[in-house]
Amino acid sequence: MKFRADFHIHSKHSLGASRDMDLESLSKWAQYKGLDLLSAGDITHPLWLSELKRKLKPLGDGLFKFNDSHFILSGEVNCVYGGMNGSKKIQLQIFSPGFEHIERINKVLSKYGDLNTGGRPLLNLEASELVRIVCDVSMDCFVVPSHIFAPGFSVLGSGGYGSLEECFGQYTKYIFAAETGLSADPKMGARLSCLDRVTMISGSNAHSPWTIGREACVFDTALHYFEIKNALQYKHRDKLLYTIEFFPEEGKHYLSGHKECGTYYTPLESRSTGHNCTVCRGPVKPGVLQRVEELADRTENEAYGKYLPFRNVMPLDEILASCLNTDSGSQRVRDAYLRLVEKAGSEFDLLLDLPEQEVRRIAPLAVAEGIIKSRKGDLRIYPGYDGVSGKIVLFDEGELARQAQLELF
Ligand SMILES: [Zn+2]
Ligand SMILES: [Zn+2]
Repeated sequence: MKFRADFHIHSKHSLGASRDMDLESLSKWAQYKGLDLLSAGDITHPLWLSELKRKLKPLGDGLFKFNDSHFILSGEVNCVYGGMNGSKKIQLQIFSPGFEHIERINKVLSKYGDLNTGGRPLLNLEASELVRIVCDVSMDCFVVPSHIFAPGFSVLGSGGYGSLEECFGQYTKYIFAAETGLSADPKMGARLSCLDRVTMISGSNAHSPWTIGREACVFDTALHYFEIKNALQYKHRDKLLYTIEFFPEEGKHYLSGHKECGTYYTPLESRSTGHNCTVCRGPVKPGVLQRVEELADRTENEAYGKYLPFRNVMPLDEILASCLNTDSGSQRVRDAYLRLVEKAGSEFDLLLDLPEQEVRRIAPLAVAEGIIKSRKGDLRIYPGYDGVSGKIVLFDEGELARQAQLELF
């Protein structure tokens, strides 16, 4: 069975998360997006965990159901500790087939930090120790490092480690999947031969229901915890078909730069300025692309094809915002979104799977153009840097005249 999964989601208990991040909204938005399986998120949080236990129906195969959506028990923690060269912040996700394992894991983790303080608790615990604790409870559970190149809070990002081995030591063998994050794609991961044994996956890191599925994984296997675990562990290319990716340039940490000065640099430019801002002369925040360059032992050409297939998408609300020349959070965009999704079946059906002529039949001209341009990667992107999101320009000025077509809505 073919299905789409988003493995990185936060609940309403996470810092900065929407109050709507509950099972009701999540399953509703999963239908709109065309996602079949979602992370239940924040499984270390006691209040959220008891809500999950009350509301999720166990399917007996390591997955759970609420309304029409399937859920997998997973959540993120933030390991903060003094590493060899100062303090490390490493974010990691824990996956489990059942509540009983989570409860045992949480009992141990509560010795290292207050699990009540947020959906993604701060633990004074080495990342390798976390893996030991989780595997100790059950080898059916596993740990996936989050957005591995993100600066300052990930295993390989600047301030992190030079390799998985350096971070996880003897427990590295239990790490069989890693998340690329919004600012990176599988092609960038393939520049590091040390990641060859690891399955690169993608998740949205959503803090609001409408951003779930910004990134996702598409499987063709039984919708079953152990089938998914196997597909990741043994890199079954016929089971994990491809990942759905943001355009990495749109991510907040793609290029190096300095937010206050509005300056950003490619890895080459950044090196030539000694990684200093050309305006204030202060140090720039190193971006994901620069970090990949630093760690890479393959050129782009050498990495070609050594990764799972992936498809870049521009989210539908951003396409609509660009066509309507308004904000993606506006009511006009939301109304148009819901009408289109109802006609198409789901956002992913429209963005990825429906044939072009069907897209043109369903969507107004400018929107159909936008979707087809996004499929072809025929767009201009102002890259993100130092926490500033990148921006996609779908239409040039002249093309915007086509907006008139939207009145057909
Ligand atoms: Zn997260
Ligand atoms: Zn500056």
